[in-house]
Amino acid sequence: LRDHPSLSRILVVSTISGGGLIAYSEANVSYSSNGVETGTRKKKVVLLGTGWAGASFLKDLSNSSYEVQVISPRNYFAFTPLLPSVTCGTVEARSVVEPIRNMGRKNVEMSFLEAECFKIDPGKKKVYCRSKQGVDSKGKKQEFDVDYDYLVIATGAQSNTFNIPGVEENCHFLKEVEDAQRIRRTVIDSFEKASLPDLKEEERKRMLHFVVVGGGPTGVEFAAELHDFVTEDLVKLYPKAKNLVQITLLEAADHILTMFDKRITEFAEEKFGRDGVDVKLGSMVVKVNDKEISAKTKGGEVSTIPYGMIVWSTGVGTRPVIKDFMKQIGQGNRRALATNEWLRVEGCDNIYALGDCATINQRKVMEDIANIFKKADKDKSGTLTVKQFQEVMDDIFVRYPQIELYLKSKGMRGIADLLKQANTENGSSKAKEELNIEELKSALSQVDSQVKFLPATGQVAAQQGTYLAKCFDRMEECEKNPEGPIRIRGEGRHRFRPFRYRHLGQFAPLGGEQTAAQLPGDWVSIGHSSQWLWYSVYASKQVSWRTRVLVVSDWMRRFIFGRDSSRI
Ligand code: FAD
Repeated sequence: LRDHPSLSRILVVSTISGGGLIAYSEANVSYSSNGVETGTRKKKVVLLGTGWAGASFLKDLSNSSYEVQVISPRNYFAFTPLLPSVTCGTVEARSVVEPIRNMGRKNVEMSFLEAECFKIDPGKKKVYCRSKQGVDSKGKKQEFDVDYDYLVIATGAQSNTFNIPGVEENCHFLKEVEDAQRIRRTVIDSFEKASLPDLKEEERKRMLHFVVVGGGPTGVEFAAELHDFVTEDLVKLYPKAKNLVQITLLEAADHILTMFDKRITEFAEEKFGRDGVDVKLGSMVVKVNDKEISAKTKGGEVSTIPYGMIVWSTGVGTRPVIKDFMKQIGQGNRRALATNEWLRVEGCDNIYALGDCATINQRKVMEDIANIFKKADKDKSGTLTVKQFQEVMDDIFVRYPQIELYLKSKGMRGIADLLKQANTENGSSKAKEELNIEELKSALSQVDSQVKFLPATGQVAAQQGTYLAKCFDRMEECEKNPEGPIRIRGEGRHRFRPFRYRHLGQFAPLGGEQTAAQLPGDWVSIGHSSQWLWYSVYASKQVSWRTRVLVVSDWMRRFIFGRDSSRI
């Protein structure tokens, strides 16, 4: 029994020295090696990953009845929104990281293993790991397994290369602190190499051509940072390079920052135009070699551009360990682990997944939306008035802000445009007073197929971590008191309220001390004032006072002395 994975909840038979059977009790009991009972055994939570989701789970878990085993290849949490600043030395790498051992609550027993999980076995309730440092007697990385009662998967995602030839080998990614440090060194290297004698002008130009692939927030912010670094600091030190440097941003879609309001997209494109950042829209990269990158336009024309450095920032893909796990549990055809709205992996009892590696099952989302419509159609006529529809959409937007963001990104400023689209597409000239529910649902389902219901952001991951920690904190209380106040009735008898994402807004720093901010309530602000808002929000969001002080002093250092361009 001691080795049984579900030891935490077994019927235990206690004995005394005479060996007679004296009592039955259902408990979590631990034993010493000679089989003597040593007390109540804590439930073991294995947490994979120390990113936004894992760190916020750890920070907020406060119930001391758990023993938390954290496993991750890095022993720190990294504040990713400041990674683009690390690439250019605006902020130092050590200022954006916090040791994970500092992050748990004092009353919760926590230990850390620096290792990568390569297999999850839900049947045996074990994870198999490979250490980052230690090697065994054969010189191979040490491998071991760890049992769990609950598994929390927060392994994030990896950069997505779309299997385009040459990307893996020749491009820089911007996902980890080490990536940012490598980019910083490569930028400075490029300036030093281009300053060597006996080089042709063409070759110098190639070395100083920086290409960014992907016009999402990370790619745009990096291009803006790099532009500032070059114009504010590097050209002073390398005056001959001034007319040779070029920054190009390649984006496959028709615009950059498509997840933002149209006004922000337009401002960013115009600003880059003024700054001399060459934004090539509708350019899909097809091949990369060590000196050239080839991109195809929408018309099918392929052009080849010589480059010195490429930063690849086109979104995220699934990690191998998650792919393997998804295959085992019949989710092999998905992009991310499907969970229910309580973040429990579908079909697995004690396994939870959060952050970039997980997604709430969209089928459930559409069922939820269908139910909202059903409730609104009180007289069962199959139609809604415009007012009723407005209320339905407000309800949907509150639950799924991503739908609202998506509509806005497509230039539809709310319901009216969606209705117009629904009516036009169905050739319906129906009076706008009565709206057919089926037509509306069909218009919405087109939106559904486009939207990933929760964006892959730190904001979502952190909120999920906090939510799950709260659920874990109350789990025991709910088990003891199943009909208690936190148990909700009605549809679905669940112990906890489902996870609801609260969108707090998003920023797009555009360089030159200007930032675009899109805040809830359709509030858009672009310019220097939003840059100060950005500084305040990111200073306040730091996970410790130590990193807060370091980051703010880095910003001050940069204001006074500029960025450091030494290659160390
Ligand atoms: P991660 O933060 O990626 O953490 C994953 C963790 O799992 C890491 O500790 C990793 O080491 C560990 N891990 C990986 N493989 C294994 C394994 N096999 N076994 C065990 N552990 C493993 N979001 C915002 O909301 N706002 C922003 O401004 C913003 N800016 C960004 C800027 C950049 C440059 C980047 C790269 C991302 C940015 N994001 C931003 C997105 C945000 O960082 C991610 O959405 C967020 O990190 C996801 O959190 P996560 O915990 O799921 O994964």
